[in-house]
Parts: sequence; structure tokens; C-alpha cells
Amino acid sequence: SSNVSVFSGIQPTGIPHLGNYLGALRQWVGIQDNSPESAKLTFCIVDLHAITQPQEAEQLRKRKTELLATLLAVGLDPRRCTIFEQSRVPAHSELMWILSCVAPMGRLNRMTQWKSKLGVPSNQDALQEKATAASLKLGLLSYPVLQAADILIHKATHVPVGEDQSQHLELTREIASSFNKAFKKDVLKLPITLLSPAKRVMSLKDPTQKMTKSAADPASRILLTDSPKEVHGKLRKAITDSVPGPPTYDVQNRPGLSNLIEILAHVQRRQDFDEVAKEVSDLSLKAFKELVADAISEHLEPIRDEYEKIMAESNREVLHFVASEGERKARESAEETLAEVKEAVGL
Ligand code: ADP
Repeated sequence: SSNVSVFSGIQPTGIPHLGNYLGALRQWVGIQDNSPESAKLTFCIVDLHAITQPQEAEQLRKRKTELLATLLAVGLDPRRCTIFEQSRVPAHSELMWILSCVAPMGRLNRMTQWKSKLGVPSNQDALQEKATAASLKLGLLSYPVLQAADILIHKATHVPVGEDQSQHLELTREIASSFNKAFKKDVLKLPITLLSPAKRVMSLKDPTQKMTKSAADPASRILLTDSPKEVHGKLRKAITDSVPGPPTYDVQNRPGLSNLIEILAHVQRRQDFDEVAKEVSDLSLKAFKELVADAISEHLEPIRDEYEKIMAESNREVLHFVASEGERKARESAEETLAEVKEAVGL
């Protein structure tokens, strides 16, 4: 049997957007469709990560259901993959505690996501920085250790993610090798990071920031369930620039426009951005945005239709069944590793 084990996760903090899809979900489905039967495929709805930010209970539960439906709608097959909710497999949290006893604080303090939460502007003094840090929650600092546990507990060999997760994957490998060294046993496997060609899709309202579920402005992202009308509306409002003349690909000087060219290319599964830009060089900005909106809407149409079908009231039983089957399979895999870990540690 092959030892390939693929693991990845997504937060139930809203309907996935085009960045999640092009950067992660489409790659998950590609892996599913192209890997041998023996490969273990595990995809996790990471609700314990979602609560590092305040969540409303009813809304969080609803969003988990919607996310599960979206994962099925993009083409994940629950007969082939294990799809489950993180909090239903307690071994993840248990391993996190054990790993937090080998994870160095200095490394966590230097994680870019933590530093961005500190919101340290260059002129902020040390005292103010301390005050900000004091009011932030422990979970926000330590969640990369939980993420390491998520990955390591399923002995993942490959982790398909967007670029924002590269640093977390590095930390995961460091924690795994520290653990193996400390307990003189190769219990944990060091996973490889798999970046998709669309490493970083940018916000439509601020092209210096990545597109994310957690941005306040809903017009900054295209949801996989957006109607053609919504997609067109968001594209029309997308920030570009006032350089006269046709659209050109120039990430440095025209980041907004270049992001739209990249999105168009990725939707068409192409990687030569200059070539894509050349093809639209006789269009006005308005016509170019219409073209991108059409390409996105067309691509999303089957996903949106499938989502509507899956979310129909008559399918609720199916979703419940998929979630409990996923939980059962994930528990089996996670508990096996946790037992080996405890054995190595002396617990
Ligand atoms: P979000 O920031 O939208 O809440 P998650 O933390 O749930 O995203 O990440 C789910 C997956 O989507 C991860 O693999 C992440 O790297 C990827 N991802 C998130 N945003 C983007 C983006 N803008 N471009 C490419 N990949 C992204």
C-alpha cells in the first residue's frame, strides 16, 4: 500500500471564496481525481481554528453545514475522502497539548499572522505593543500548534494549501522533528507543502491584501455561491487604477488589474499571465471586467447549482451522514497516531 496521506483544512467562517477555491479546494479535488486508491485523503472543517475569533454559536453551526455542502459541491467525494469537523475528533486537541510542550514560544511570537494581529505600526512604542499583546487571546498565538497537530495526527505526507500557510507548514515540520528527537523515535512524519499555481488571490477592494473570509467588506471577495449578477457587481466595483489605455499585466504598478488578469488565467487553467493580458489588450477596462466576470460566473455555475441541490431540506440527512462517517474515519486515523505518541512520551 502507498503511504501517501493528504491532509488539508478550511475554516467554517463563511462560504469559501475564489481564493480558497483556486488556492486550495480545486487542488484538493484534483488530487482526489488523480491519486491511487491507496492514498489516504483527509479534509477537515477546522471549527476549533474558527473560534480564535469571536463566533456566534448558531451562525458557526450553520456555517459548518454550508461549508460541508460547498466541499461536496466542488467535487469532493465522501466515499473517497474523509471529510470531518475538527471538534468532533478530540485527539486533535490532545495532540496539540503534547506538541505545545515541545513548541518554542520564540517561533510562535515570530509568526507573521500573530504579528499582524499585534497590529504593530512602525512607530508604535514597545509599551503599547505589550499592552496590545496582553489583550490578545492565547489561542491566537498557539493555533499554529493546533494546526501542526491536525496535520501530524493523520501522518500527512502532502498538505495542499495557499501561500499564507507556508510558514505554518514550516513550523509543523520543525515541531515534528523536535518531537521525534526529544522522544528518540520517528513517530511523526514531516509533511511536504503543495502550493497550487494560484498561491495568493488578492482582495478585490485592496490588492495589497489576500482575499479572505475574514475581511469586513463582502465586496472584497467572490463567493463560490455568488450569482452572475453578484459576480458582475463585485467586478464592477473592484479597485483597479486610473492609468489610461488598455489593461496590462504589471504586478508592481498595477496590482488590482494584475490580480484580475491572474484570476482570469487561473479560471482558464493557464499560467502565462502576459499572454492572457495580451489577448485582452484591445478591451476597455469596463469590457475587460465584464469578460472576467463572465468567465468566473460560467466556471462557478455548476458549483452553485450543486450547492443548491445539496443544501435542499430533503438532503439534510445526507449531510449528517457524511459528517458522522467522516468523524468515524478521522477518529480511527487520529487515535492510532495519538496512541503511538503517548507511548513514546510515557503517557
Ligand atoms: P480564509 O483566510 O479565507 O479564512 P482559510 O484560513 O479558511 O481562509 O484557508 C483555507 C485554505 O484556503 C488554505 O489552504 C489557504 O491557504 C487558502 N487560501 C485562503 N485565502 C487564499 C487566497 N487569497 N489565495 C489563495 N489561497 C488562499
